[in-house]
Order: sequence, then structure tokens, then C-alpha cells
Amino acid sequence: MDTASLWQSVLGEIELGLSQGNFVTWFKNTRLLKVDDEVVVIGAPNIFIKQQLERKFAELISETLEKNGVKPERIEYKILPASSLHRKVEDTPVVMHNNGHSGPSTSTSGTTSSLTHSYRQGLNEKYTFENFVVGSGNELAYAACQAVAQKPGVKYNPLFIYGGVGIGKTHLIQAVGNEILARNKNARIVYVSSEQFVQEFLDAIRYKKNTDFAGHYRSADVLIIDDVQFIAGKEKTQEEFFHTFNALHQANKQIIISSDTRPKDIPTLTDRLKSRFEWGMNIDMQSPDFETRCVIVQAKAQAHNINLPHDLVEYLAGFVQNNIRELEGALNQLIAFCEMRHLEPSAEVAVALFGNQKNRPRHLTARQIVEKTAKYFHLSVDELIGPKRDKEIVVPRQIAMYIIRSELHMSFPKIARELGRKDHTTAIHSIDKISKEQAFDPEVRAAIGAIKEKL
Ligand code: ADP
Ligand code: MG
Repeated sequence: MDTASLWQSVLGEIELGLSQGNFVTWFKNTRLLKVDDEVVVIGAPNIFIKQQLERKFAELISETLEKNGVKPERIEYKILPASSLHRKVEDTPVVMHNNGHSGPSTSTSGTTSSLTHSYRQGLNEKYTFENFVVGSGNELAYAACQAVAQKPGVKYNPLFIYGGVGIGKTHLIQAVGNEILARNKNARIVYVSSEQFVQEFLDAIRYKKNTDFAGHYRSADVLIIDDVQFIAGKEKTQEEFFHTFNALHQANKQIIISSDTRPKDIPTLTDRLKSRFEWGMNIDMQSPDFETRCVIVQAKAQAHNINLPHDLVEYLAGFVQNNIRELEGALNQLIAFCEMRHLEPSAEVAVALFGNQKNRPRHLTARQIVEKTAKYFHLSVDELIGPKRDKEIVVPRQIAMYIIRSELHMSFPKIARELGRKDHTTAIHSIDKISKEQAFDPEVRAAIGAIKEKL
């Protein structure tokens, strides 16, 4: 495995534990410059990011490297020369359709430039229909995306796809963009995560480029907005998005949206946006079933030119059940591990590597997570879901919410109810807090790891 794929694998893992925003901000433009037994050198795009990596993420990085079979004596951080960054941007097979884009120019120096830069991802051409495995759980979403790619703006507008984390939403909606581009290279496809949309909108206001911003989005032939739930609570941005939506819809331009829940369950989304989102087609996407996961594992291994024995495929597909990104992460870890140690991938190696984390039960419930969390912190379930707000109870409660979210992908209102809270914003806040904290608080991370192992 070369350094690039090793780093890909490490980043894939790190991404799982961080919010999208955090991950993009701190890790997007990092690189692995050198690996040997003595030293690993990691490149960061600027001093600001370098410091954050050293201060906040050093432990996470060294742990994740170790999981991937790399345990050097020390880890060094270096600032990447600007030229290497630019070259890399051109090298990456990413179709950028954000030209004519507003916001601060990327040539501003220092931190702003790299931050803005890292928020701007266009379509990634690795996401295609061809390499998407269709099976129960995703076939409806696949069919709708195919239909939209054939005739954008005609049938399902907007196309709204919702479902849990890591099940292929981004892959599918980007595949639509790539397919339309393959047919018509002049098509103006704008792909944006809602976090990026919010960021650009705020920048546009700050730098007084509102009209550029509006013009850019309104001139799209196809607008793909990913993870729209992050627009929740941002009223001004929602208003701007509402107008963009109307302009495009009236002009019969295709709009594709993904989210973690159905429109009506997105907290603090204005009613008029909810109703717009329900106009077209809403599709509930599920995690693929066991057979489909097996095919996915095989396909991903074959992409590395590796054939896996059948019992290993089944082990992996059973080991990670509801998150394909995690499944890929486990596979990459295994491949890296085997390459470093010159082993043939096998179920035995997988058990040795992931062994003590037994297969998770198929029907894990929120209640079980609450019970295990209470037990870990020596609390009773009644205390954990009760009215008390002492710090010793509040933090475990927040951790329970976080684990329910990451394991079961339950909606915020439901999570709040499981923990005896009336207000779903408590759940949003708690989950966000823990997902940030676990990046740099080893105690929180240890608790989460220990509880998950018991599940
Ligand atoms: P989401 O946006 O739902 O969180 P992603 O689209 O980012 O999930 O998918 C996570 C990873 O899993 C991606 O690398 C994607 O290519 C892969 N993946 C998910 N579903 C499939 C599938 N059915 N076939 C092939 N790869 C898949
Ligand atoms: Mg996604």
C-alpha cells in the first residue's frame, strides 16, 4: 500500500469520529509525506491547521495510524509548500463546478484561504452508477436517481433522499451529476453540502458578494445539495435557499437533496421549505442488507485487485451492519494490516484484528444503549433518563445520545424521548458537543469505545 492509500484509509477512519465540518476543516488538505518505522511526517496546508493537528488531534492520528499497522517512534507535522497544494488540486480527479463562484477569493493569504478552499468540493468522479451496488435498501433510491439522470428536471423535482449515515446517499446523488455531465459536458452541475452553502452564504454577506452568490446558484442546470439537515436553524440561509429553490424549480431545473431524515422531521426547518421539499419525490434509503453488503465488500476488494475468501466477506458484512463507510474502513484497515505484515487476508486475521468487538446484534435498540451507558457510569437507568442535571449525569446522558445517533441513526426527537427529554434541540446540542469533544478528550473517547464494545 502506498502512502496515499494508507492516508486515505486513516482519514476514512478519522472522518467517522468527527463532524463533517470538523473533518473538512482540519483534515481535508492534509497529506502523508513519509512513513517508516522511525518517523511519520504529515503535511498540513498552513500553520494554523498544523498547530491544531498537533494540539488537538495528535493522539487520534497516532491511534488511527497504529490501527492501520503503522507505529513509528515519532510523528512530525510539516507545512506543505503552496505549490504542492495547487498541483494536488489539479491532480485530483475532481470536477470543479464552482467557477463563477462568489465569496472571498482563494488567493487571500493565511488561514481564510485554506479554510474557504477546503469547503469547496465539487463533484467527485469516483462516485458513479457503475460502481454502486444495488440491492435491498437502496434500490428505490437508485431507480429514482437513474430516472433523474436520464431526464433531469422532468419527473421527480425535487428528488429528496433521506437515510442514515454512510449508506450511500452522497455516492448516489453525485452519480447523478456525473452521469448528466458524461452526457453533456456543458451541463452546469452544482454540488454543494449544506454546510458549505451556509459558509459561502455567510462569506458572501461579509464580503458583500450576495448577488454573485445568488447568481451562481440560480444559474445551475442541476443543483445537488447534500446533507440539507445542517441548514436547520440558519434562518437567513434558509431564506436564501428558498428563493434559489423557487427560481430553479420554476425554470424546470433539477434539484436533488439529501438529508438524514424526512423533511418534516428536520428540526427548525421553516415550514415553507418543508413543504417545498415534499413537492417532488421523497425516498427513504436504508442500509443495504447482508447479501448486498457482501457484494459491496467483494467489489471494493476487487477495486484493490484483491480477492477475498468467502468467510472473510461474510465476517466483514456481518461485522459492520449499517454503515457502508465503516464497512469500507474495516476492509481498508484489514488490507493495510495484511500488506504491512505480509499476510493473506483471511477471516482469522480479521478476527485477530477486530476480534474482541463481537458481531453486533442485529436488533440493537436505543434502550440497550441507555442501559449499557448507565452501567458504564455506575448510574441507574432512571437516573440517566430522569430530570437531574448534575454534571455526573448530564455527560453520560449526552454520550448515550451520541451513541444512539451514531449506531442507530435515530432522529433527534426520538433520541430526546429515549433519554426522557422533551426538546429535540437538547439531543442536537448534546450530539454535536460529544462529537467535538471525543476528538480531543481521551476520556470521552474511551467511554464511547468501551460502551460500544459492550453492545
Ligand atoms: P452517506 O452520504 O449516505 O453518508 P456515502 O455516499 O458517503 O454515504 O457512502 C459512504 C461510502 O460507502 C462511500 O465510499 C460509498 O462509495 C460507499 N457506498 C455506500 N453504498 C454503496 C453501494 N451500494 N455500493 C458501493 N459503494 C457504496
Ligand atoms: Mg453523505
